[in-house]
Amino acid sequence: MPTDWRTRLIHPSRRAPEGFRSLATATHRGSTTLFGKAADLEDNWKQREGYTYGLFGTPTARELALRVAELEGAEESFLAPSGLAAIALVWFAFARSGAHVLVPDNVYTPNRVLADDLARRFGVEVEFYDPLCGGDIAGLLREETVLVWCESPGSVTMEIQDVPAIAAAAHARGARVALDNTYAGGVLFDAFTHGADISMQALTKYVGGHSDLLMGAVSARDPACREALDRARRLLGLNVSPDDCALALRGLQTLGVRLAQLEASALAVARWLDARPEIETVLHPALPSCPGHDIWRRDWSGSASLFSVVFDARFDRTAIEAFVDRLRLFGIGYSWGGVASLALPHFQLHRHGRGVGERLVRFNIGLEAVDDLIADLAQALEGVGGVSGEE
Ligand SMILES: *Cc1c(COP(=O)(O)O)cnc(C)c1O
Repeated sequence: MPTDWRTRLIHPSRRAPEGFRSLATATHRGSTTLFGKAADLEDNWKQREGYTYGLFGTPTARELALRVAELEGAEESFLAPSGLAAIALVWFAFARSGAHVLVPDNVYTPNRVLADDLARRFGVEVEFYDPLCGGDIAGLLREETVLVWCESPGSVTMEIQDVPAIAAAAHARGARVALDNTYAGGVLFDAFTHGADISMQALTKYVGGHSDLLMGAVSARDPACREALDRARRLLGLNVSPDDCALALRGLQTLGVRLAQLEASALAVARWLDARPEIETVLHPALPSCPGHDIWRRDWSGSASLFSVVFDARFDRTAIEAFVDRLRLFGIGYSWGGVASLALPHFQLHRHGRGVGERLVRFNIGLEAVDDLIADLAQALEGVGGVSGEE
C-alpha cells in the first residue's frame, strides 16, 4: 500500500460499504470504464452488453433506455442528447446518397430543415407529402424509397395520420417507417402495433416533464433497424449526461399522473375556446374539428397537453400578438410538455394545399388550475376586442 497521501487520494484503501438500496436510480458518471485484465480489452468495443466506455453506456443511461423501451413496447431504445439529435440519428442510420425519403409537410420544422440540408449536401432525395394522404402514399413510393417519416399529430396544425395505412403501403415496397411519437409521450399511441418500425420521441417534453432537460430517444423492435441505429449512434458518438438521465428517470415516475391531468385540463380549455366567437377552429385531436380526428378515435388511447386554435378572420397579426402579450399565466416560448402553460403564435405556415392562414396560436396547457387559465384567456380576449359573454 503506497504511503504518500497524494497517491492514496487517487487509490484509497477504505471505501463505504456496499449494499445500499434506494428507490432512486444512482447517477453513475464515467468516461473510463475499468476492465479486469488486459485480455478483456479485445473486441470489447463492439459489444452491446456490459460496459466498455462511458460513451457506449453507463448504468444510469442503460436504465433509462431500458425503461423507455419497455414503455414504448420496443426491443431496444437509443438515447440522444436532444429530440432533434434523435431525429438526426434516424436520418443518419437509414438515409444514403441516391435514396428517396418521404416526409410529411407538417413535420417538426427542424426535421424539415435537416431534410432539406441532407438533400442539398448529401444527395438524399427528399419529397414532402400530404400528411392526410393515408394509403394513397403508395403512389409516391419508389424502388429507392428507404424511409417514410410520420409525425402524428403533426407539428402546430395537429393533423392525425393514418399510420397503419401508411406503414402497410411502405412495407409493401420495402421502406421503413419512422414515427415522431413525441406528442404521445411513448404511451398514448402504440407505434409498433400500428406499423411503425422506428419510434422517436423528444424526452424533453413529457418524460422530462419539467422544462429542465433536453433528450431524445429512438426505439425499435426489428433487429436490422436496431443494428443500423446502434451503428449510427456509435459512429456519431452521441452521449447523454447521467444527471439528465436521472432527471428523466424521475420524470417517468410521474408521467402517468401528469398525462392524465394534462389531458383533462387541455380538453377543458380547448372546449372553452371552441365555444368562443373569436375562435374559428380548435385543432385538438379529441375534437371533431381536428383533421384526422376519426383516426385518433380509432388508434389512440388519449390526448395530451398541446393544441392550436385558429382565430376568426377579424383578428390580424397585431391583434393576435396583443392577445398573447396580455396573457399573464401563459409564457411565450418554444417547446412544451412541462408544468407551465405556454402560448405561441404562428403567422407563416406552409401546409400541403390547405390554407391554415396566419392566425394560429398553439397552446401548451400546464398544471395550473383550469379556472385560472380560462379566466386569463377570457381577460386577454376581451382586452383585444373580443366579445365578452356572448355565448
Ligand atoms: C420538441 C420536438 C422535437 C425536438 O425535441 P428537442 O429535444 O427540443 O430537440 C422533435 N419533435 C417534435 C414533434 C417536437 O415537438
